Amino acid sequence: MPATSLDQVVSLCKRRGFIFPGSDIYGGLANTWDYGPLGVELKNRVKQNWWTTFVHNRPDMVGLDSGILMNPRVWEASGHVGSFADPLVDCKSCKERYRGDKLLEEKLGVEAAAVLTLDQVQPMLAAEKINCPKCGNNDWSEAKHFNLMFKTQQGVVEGEGDDIYMRPETAQGIFVNFKNVLTTSRMRLPFGIGQIGKAFRNEITPGNFTFRTREFEQMEIEYFVEPDDKQEAFDLWKKAVWSWYEGLGVDTSRMRFRDHDKDELSHYSSQTVDIEYQFPWGWGELFGLADRGDYDLSQHEKFSSQELKYTDPDDATRKFVPHVIEPSFGCDRSVLTYLIEAYTEEELENGDVRTVMKFDKRLSPIDIAILPLSKKEHLVAKAKEIHQLLLDQTNLVTDFDVTGSIGKRYRRQDEIGTPLCITVDFGTIGEDAEQGDPDTVTIRDRDTLEQKRVKISDLRAEIAEYWKN
Ligand code: ATP
Repeated sequence: MPATSLDQVVSLCKRRGFIFPGSDIYGGLANTWDYGPLGVELKNRVKQNWWTTFVHNRPDMVGLDSGILMNPRVWEASGHVGSFADPLVDCKSCKERYRGDKLLEEKLGVEAAAVLTLDQVQPMLAAEKINCPKCGNNDWSEAKHFNLMFKTQQGVVEGEGDDIYMRPETAQGIFVNFKNVLTTSRMRLPFGIGQIGKAFRNEITPGNFTFRTREFEQMEIEYFVEPDDKQEAFDLWKKAVWSWYEGLGVDTSRMRFRDHDKDELSHYSSQTVDIEYQFPWGWGELFGLADRGDYDLSQHEKFSSQELKYTDPDDATRKFVPHVIEPSFGCDRSVLTYLIEAYTEEELENGDVRTVMKFDKRLSPIDIAILPLSKKEHLVAKAKEIHQLLLDQTNLVTDFDVTGSIGKRYRRQDEIGTPLCITVDFGTIGEDAEQGDPDTVTIRDRDTLEQKRVKISDLRAEIAEYWKN
């Protein structure tokens, strides 16, 4: 069973150092979150796994890291200045602001809400008797478009700088570099460019922990294809992404595909499918796959007056703007999903309940914990020696913990999802034969709770075997 309420995860994240409220000592800043020592390890592993799977392990992919700040013309060309907006409604009684489409979605379902036009939002809220979640009244303003891009200024003189935007998606950095990548990497169609980075959206109603925030990270791919090949690429990406989530431990009974209706499609897209996950509060978008056609490259050609065509290597007279399939992952939403999926409460034989984060072992923030049974100096020295051995001979991320009873330390490692613990006891240093033979340690498995006595000289091989399976 995964977490049944978001509170379980939020509380564990704060308690154990995965995710803290942003600007905590100043009373916070609404809906901002900071990844703590364990959170950053988990997030890095999600990103690393993504990069290995979709960039390094595929000959048809290369990577990129483009800037957050871009020439403002980029956002005119992409259509974000004109149409990257959500329907905003004000509650005239308490002045709270909401996304009208989201209020309707909760009552009518995603499909029904998606087909409504801007001027239908307020009458629908009245007809469906959807009241303000804060004050309970039904006194809504007309819906108006609210552009989600954050604006800032570039330049050193206050008030005289140029208005620029914080990117609301990483995708445009890829499109504007299409020609640079093409000429330097010598890729041939079909090929893709992957990028991981921050994006910013002035969301009207952020919330549900890290699910919807104003600053977040995306992992995006723009996959360039011959126009005739795009359906095939679309279907292959759909499968590949589903497998990625499944392969890292997301139960497929809590994932589903959802095709966008025609009226729901973004201005650039002719076909979109989302992967939704059943979060504790309901289904929500985890990932989006869009057929962007030749919209973006053609727009940038127009606005930049630069040619962004591809020349067929087998026929130099054939030049065309490639079409684009875009797999777009939310990094923070993926991390949140892995946290929710990993969260497990288990009743032990003695009736105690243990909380254990059953991360896929490739995602666990810590690989191995080394735990000396007591604080006695010569025992700790032996444990440190073993720790150093592992640091020298493996790439594992380790934790060394001497504080508290061994039971408490196991519980802590369970709660942070450490797959293996190594206990160094008086048997190890030849002082207590009942605990074990000299130069042996106990390895404890997080999931099975099995304990195994292993020679220190076999430790490396034993650990390698565990990670192989
Ligand atoms: P939503 O409908 O939830 O607002 P979207 O359709 O606008 O999302 P996309 O533009 O397709 O999202 O962005 C790609 C991915 O980026 C999403 O699938 C999601 O995982 C992530 N994402 C988008 N907005 C946010 C946000 N405000 N906070 C966290 N992640 C986000």
